Amino acid sequence: MKIEMPCIVCPNSCNLEVEYEEENGQKKIVSVSGHLCDRGITYATDEITHPMRMITTTIKITGAHIARLPVILSDEIPKELIFNVLTEIKKIKVKTPVNEGDILLENILGTGVNLLASRSLL
Ligand code: SF4
Repeated sequence: MKIEMPCIVCPNSCNLEVEYEEENGQKKIVSVSGHLCDRGITYATDEITHPMRMITTTIKITGAHIARLPVILSDEIPKELIFNVLTEIKKIKVKTPVNEGDILLENILGTGVNLLASRSLL
C-alpha cells in the first residue's frame, strides 16, 4: 500500500510517499521517499507502525478565578488510546491550589504517562 503524508517534524513540510505492507495486522515500511532528511523516515515509520499523540485539554477546577485548568500529558500516548485516556481525564475534579507541573493523574491506564497541570492556580 502506498500513501502520501506531510512530514510535520519541521517547517519544510516535505510531502512523504510511504509504501508499506500489512500482515496479520502488523504494518511494515517498504520505502519512504520525498524526505529531505532522515527525520522524515523516522516520522513516517512511527506514524505508520505505532502512531503516538500528545493530549492537551482542560479540566474543571473549583476555587479559582477561572472555571477550567489547562492540563497536558507528561508524554505521548498510543493514538488508539486517545478516547480512553480522555474519558479518564474527564473524571478528574480538582480544587485550588494547583501548581504548574503537579501530577493530577498518575500512570493513566497503565501507560506510564501522567496528567500534569499546565499552569498554577492558587
Ligand atoms: S523530512 Fe526532514 S526536512 Fe522534510 S519536513 Fe521532515 S524533518 Fe523537515
